[in-house]
Amino acid sequence: MKIAVLPGDGIGPEIVNEAVGVLNALDESFEIEYAPVGGAGYEAAGHPLPEDTLTLAKEADAILFGAVGDWKYDGLARELRPEQAILGLRKHLQLFANFRPAILYPELAGASSLKPEIVAGLDILIIRELNGDIYFGQPKGFRQALTGPFEGSREGFDTMLYTVPEVVRIANVAFQAAGKRGKRLCSVDKANVLETSQLWRDTMMEVSKDYPDVELSHMYVDNAAMQLVRAPKHFDVVVTGNMFGDILSDEAAMLTGSIGMLPSASLDANNKGLYEPSHGSAPDIAGKGIANPLATILSVAMMLRYTLGKEEQAHRIEAAVKHVLAQGLRTPDIMQVGTTQVGTCAMGAAVIAAL
Ligand code: NAD
Repeated sequence: MKIAVLPGDGIGPEIVNEAVGVLNALDESFEIEYAPVGGAGYEAAGHPLPEDTLTLAKEADAILFGAVGDWKYDGLARELRPEQAILGLRKHLQLFANFRPAILYPELAGASSLKPEIVAGLDILIIRELNGDIYFGQPKGFRQALTGPFEGSREGFDTMLYTVPEVVRIANVAFQAAGKRGKRLCSVDKANVLETSQLWRDTMMEVSKDYPDVELSHMYVDNAAMQLVRAPKHFDVVVTGNMFGDILSDEAAMLTGSIGMLPSASLDANNKGLYEPSHGSAPDIAGKGIANPLATILSVAMMLRYTLGKEEQAHRIEAAVKHVLAQGLRTPDIMQVGTTQVGTCAMGAAVIAAL
């Protein structure tokens, strides 16, 4: 199995180094090939997603991605900015299903801004559609308002749009994921106001007939935003469109208190995936050896589970992470009184030792 490793910028290379160390510590043989992406891609080949990097990503069975972005590229044209690499990879590889688990380890309950009794033991999975919705719907642009009280004024407009096949494919992914967990799927929409959401809801109900063992419920997005902070443990798997998912997945991430702990996966129709931590390149701490590598290490566990079909190895990594947390080892972002501070490399080494 071939894994493309794209470390990227900022803390990307540091955290990816630890994650690859964990991968190599498993009794498996993987072909691992590195390529530059983001600002590193721009430096190497004048583009955030160089041709060779894209070719490698297409050939590989799975992609391990660090993070991209640095303030020094802020002045570049939009298409050359490091962040375009991730959008390009999603588009070229048709990665339409974004998995963001939000798990709160009991040892880190104090890190959440919510009361421990509300979040302790939290284990939810947000599945966001990535390729459609208002971010990609056409037409979009700027024009003069044609009617209404502001006729003649400059206006910006976007098109919210989903086709039935797009909703069917994300629905299938979500029902299957829920089937492997608590068998409860909550579909989030705004069907009381939006036609796009009505189509989404109708399609979810249609697809649900193929998954009688999974209980489907529906929730309006405004209520979902409230319920995520009121009673987050009520959820098992949440499926939603691109824009609502963008917002709700970040909200769910913060329930856990630390962005440095959260992995993510973006999958295509054949479960090929790009795996990356939910956080960015953290230029403020890059090169200091203090970044938390656990989100990237847990992304490797997701890769083993969802693309490489190695559930047991995925479970071993997750158990090793729990073990180091129970030992009291913490990078600065998750430090609490009575725990032991370690850096990026020491955290990686501790996970390997626990394996
Ligand atoms: P960020 O996630 O990089 O950092 C936010 C805060 O969290 C910072 O204080 C940072 O130090 C901290 N942090 C993040 N990851 C951490 C870790 N593993 N361990 C410890 N602390 C961690 O978000 P930002 O500062 O808004 O963005 C920085 C750059 O990253 C920007 O260029 C942005 O565009 C880019 N970005 C990239 C991705 C991606 O590659 N998928 C995602 C988000 C942001």
